Order: sequence, then structure tokens, then C-alpha cells
Amino acid sequence: ALTAGIVGLPNVGKSTLFNAITQAGALSANYPFATIDPNVGIVEVPDRRLQTLTELVNPKKTVPTAFEFTDIAGIVKGASKGEGLGNQFLSHIRQVDAICHVVRAFEDENITHVSGQVDPISDIETINLELILADLETVSKRMTRVAKMARQKDKEAVAEHTVLEKLQEALEAETPARAVDFSDDQQKIVKGLHLLTSKPILYVANVSEDEIGEGDNDKVKQIREFAAAENAEVIVICAKIEAEIAELEGEEKAEFLEDLGIKEAGLDQLIKATYNLLGLATYFTAGEQEVRAWTFKEGMTAPQAAGIIHTDFERGFIRAETVSYEDLVEAGTMGAARDRGRVRLEGKDYLVKDGDVIHFRFNV
Ligand code: GDP
Repeated sequence: ALTAGIVGLPNVGKSTLFNAITQAGALSANYPFATIDPNVGIVEVPDRRLQTLTELVNPKKTVPTAFEFTDIAGIVKGASKGEGLGNQFLSHIRQVDAICHVVRAFEDENITHVSGQVDPISDIETINLELILADLETVSKRMTRVAKMARQKDKEAVAEHTVLEKLQEALEAETPARAVDFSDDQQKIVKGLHLLTSKPILYVANVSEDEIGEGDNDKVKQIREFAAAENAEVIVICAKIEAEIAELEGEEKAEFLEDLGIKEAGLDQLIKATYNLLGLATYFTAGEQEVRAWTFKEGMTAPQAAGIIHTDFERGFIRAETVSYEDLVEAGTMGAARDRGRVRLEGKDYLVKDGDVIHFRFNV
């Protein structure tokens, strides 16, 4: 399963946010194993469509889809040189598919900041620099190997060498790999290098409790500006309040959010944004027994998506009876959608779309 890693300097609110995540997961009866690995938090993906489908179909049970956040502690300056838990930190980042970078945007005299003052851009750059240095090492090692073959005019080696040179130049200028322009073919080479700075990233600005629901403070503005230059998204939260929200459900939660003057819990925003960042999307199955959301990776074919439910579904795949969520809601019932010709029989090459409601037909 894909996972997003939560990173940030010490004392920025990572643990507070991560506790909110595990608390939210712990409330859910669907994921009783949510706490086996203390560094992994399972969250349900909030999706209004699931509620609507439930009202439409009236099933015995409704099951949302979920994914994982991983808490990655231990970054300090010098991590790429193995300081602190440096190497461990970097190897943990290597294993995640996207990065949620928590940045401190709250002032609190009682909580010391590692570098003495709250300066979000310098904080971001501190971590990014460690990742850049680690990538530079990866790139130089690879270059030494490839250079020899490139001199012998090995075509693939020459192509890779060009990519490596471009990467080296960018990283030396402190530009992350994700911000470098490459052709599609070159992109494949970059992917094979598994660089830390090519992982998709979003920034989580942690503001104080009296600033949530207000406009952006100066620090948030700075973070937004920085992120925009990288085409990265910013989610503004107050980790402390998220921890409180995570203990509430339903009406209580809605009232609390209204009192705070926010539409949607920061954690829910973070979950959705991370889901998109990971290239994930949702399809539904809707039967009398169960209405359920399933996570698939964008670009998956119908048999691959079926395989998420069960490997037998993929192996014996015949057809995917598919209706879009909108068409189903408009028609009101599956039967009415069928009468209107909205239910399609899709074959093995069909690329599943977000919001598809699917009934798989398969051979056992
Ligand atoms: P970590 O080192 O990044 O995991 O940071 P922690 O989550 O342990 O937070 C460090 C300190 O900052 C703790 O005392 C938290 O209670 C406090 N803290 C975290 N988020 C907020 C916040 O939004 N507002 C305030 N005032 N304090 C916070």
C-alpha cells in the first residue's frame, strides 16, 4: 500500500498531528489493527459520496476506504552526514511514496525552537538541504558507474549520463529533483534513481489555536509563496486543535468546527490532499450487503482495480459493469440507471475513473 511520511524539524507539532491521526483511526471499528506499528497511522478517507450511496442503496454496512501515514522522526541538521538518527531518517523517507512536511507557523515562548527562532522558510530549507545532499551522493555514485560506459558510447549510458549531469547541476544549486524539467524518457531514468527530492510533497503549516479560522499569518504567507514556486500545496492546521477534533465524531464534530469558524477539519483536508498527491482515487461497490469505497491508483485498468478486492477478481475478470457516481445519483437507482443506458459493460482495457460505481463479473 502507498504511504505518506510526516516529516519536520523537532518541536513543530509532528507528534501532536500524528496523535490526531492515530486517534481518528482508533475511533474506527473498521481498522482494529490501526495501532500495531506505532509509526503507522491508518486514516479513513472522508468522502461525502459514500453517504449518498448509502442512502440510495440502503445496505447492511458501509465501509470507507483508508490509507496510511508514517511518522518519520529524527531529522536534524547533518542527517545526510549520519548525524542524529540521520541515516535511519533518510532510509525511512526512501520508503514512503509522498512527503507531508510539517512547518511551525505558531509562536509559543514556552516551546523552544531548535534554531532559536520561528522562521518557516529556513526550517523548510534545513530539511530540504539534507534530502538534497543525500540525493547528490546517490547521483555522484551513479555517475561514476555510468561515466565509463558512456565513454564507450553505450547509448543508454549516454542518456543516463545526461540526466545525471542535469540533476547534479540542479541539486548543487539546491533545487529539488521534482522541480527539474525532463522529457518523458528522461523522467523514467530519474524514477529509477529513487531520489528523495523527487517524491511529491505538500507542506503543512501548523498555526496556533487562536489563529485557526483567521486569515493567513505572515509565516503561512511565506510558506505559501515557497510552496507555489515548487507547485506544491499547503494545508493550514492547528495540530493541537486537530488532536481535540479527532476525539469527536458526527454532530459534535460539526458543531465544534462551526464554533471555530472552519468548514472542514485540517486533518480531513490533509487526508484528501495527500490522497491526491499519491495519485490515488476512489471507486465504489454498492450492493445490498455493503456499500464500500476502494482506493486505486490512477491509471489502473478494470482488472487491476478488481484485484484490489480480491486476486480472484483480477484473474477471472470478465467485465466491469460500470456507472459513474453522478449518473447513478441522477437516475436514483441502479435499475433506472440501466434503463437510461448509463450502465456500461467495460472490458479489460478500461481505465477506472474516480467515482465509478462498479460491479465486477468474473469466473472462479
Ligand atoms: P514534534 O517534535 O514536531 O513532534 O512536536 P510536538 O508535537 O511534540 O510539539 C512540540 C510542542 O509544541 C508540544 O509541547 C506541543 O504541545 C506544542 N504544539 C504543537 N502544536 C501546537 C499548536 O498548534 N499550538 C501550540 N501552542 N502548541 C503546539
